[in-house]
Amino acid sequence: MPDELICLSTPNFRGNEKKYVDEAVETEWVSTAGSFISRFEERMAARLSVKQACACQSGTAGLHLCLRHFGVSAGDLVLVPTLTFIATVNAVMYQAAEPVFFDCDSHMCIDVDQVEAYLERECRPEGGRTVEIASGRTVKAAVPVHVFGDHCDMDRLMDLAERYHLAVIEDATESLGGVFARGRYAGRATGTAGHAGVLSFNGNKIITTGGGGMVVSDDVSAVEHMRYLSQQAKDDPVYFVHEEWGYNYRMTNLQAALGLAQLEELDGFLESKRRNYARYRERLAGCDYGELLPFGSGENSNHWFYSFALREPDGARRDRLIQYLSARNIQARPIWKLNHTQTPFRKYRAMDCGRAQRFYDRVVNIPCGTNLTEEQLDRVCRALLAFGEEDRG
Ligand SMILES: *Cc1c(COP(=O)(O)O)cnc(C)c1O
Repeated sequence: MPDELICLSTPNFRGNEKKYVDEAVETEWVSTAGSFISRFEERMAARLSVKQACACQSGTAGLHLCLRHFGVSAGDLVLVPTLTFIATVNAVMYQAAEPVFFDCDSHMCIDVDQVEAYLERECRPEGGRTVEIASGRTVKAAVPVHVFGDHCDMDRLMDLAERYHLAVIEDATESLGGVFARGRYAGRATGTAGHAGVLSFNGNKIITTGGGGMVVSDDVSAVEHMRYLSQQAKDDPVYFVHEEWGYNYRMTNLQAALGLAQLEELDGFLESKRRNYARYRERLAGCDYGELLPFGSGENSNHWFYSFALREPDGARRDRLIQYLSARNIQARPIWKLNHTQTPFRKYRAMDCGRAQRFYDRVVNIPCGTNLTEEQLDRVCRALLAFGEEDRG
């Protein structure tokens, strides 16, 4: 009999999920109104110590609401990392704006040195905005991403944002539960340093609503405007008056019921993410061809996704490793194909993204679910170690 499949990540429903969803069904409050939505928003806002939260249909919808609210419009430039899930960039496209792609730093988050050099050398502030000299376009916003739960340097990014009048939308879709360790934001939750932060509750995220997202910010009127936009910008519920056009982006009460129950479990999930990570580190310490990458943000990271990296960049060997694991019923995958190399984005400006390319050729994401048992984790480690014996490069 083949070994059972070990997935990268599976949802973990051991709390009040069923109870709350049943309650939503029994009371027939299943759509975009209902008390679970506001309870989920309030509980998340309290958890992150942030003034307002707006639950929406997905993290992508949340990013889009932020870009629209902060005035990103056709032809504007938005600074993004090349190393991220495509949703970050797609949201920029929804506003008919253009991405400018940046490399990553030593822990896979946007390279702030490179962002600074670009703003200093290629842009100039002009009457309360920043213009890219060569194109004459406005650089309107930046969307840093806390990749795999590791943290961007928000201190420096927010300084640059102030100097260059940029809106910073913090893509915290992967970092819920993480807390900044150093600097101005020490002790604050990720997602609360930018002008607005975005969370995702997709199936593989640390908590899930099946699909869903949330915008959080201390800027109360910004979040309220986004909530309004997410409900078709309806000004009057009886006469259906609309002063703006909006989107059908609101989260449903059913999803929020799941979300509220999941949020109650967050501390337990963080504990298992960290414990499993430490176990992997320990079991793989003797591995000669690769290593489990550390989180630059240390213990304060949520340890959402684990990156096993070959010592040397070698895309072919990375693929052999993925196939080797797959043949043993262990799910693993490379990190995202870099966005500046994707067909729809090749025509846009990209800085030198050599560091991201090397990560792409080295890293394999390995099973990291909060359901992962110690036996499963040991099986993954045995396979990773055996690959080193069998595949000599
Ligand atoms: C998951 C994710 C998103 C989008 O979230 P959805 O809820 O799936 O729309 C955006 N950015 C990053 C980096 C993500 O990992």
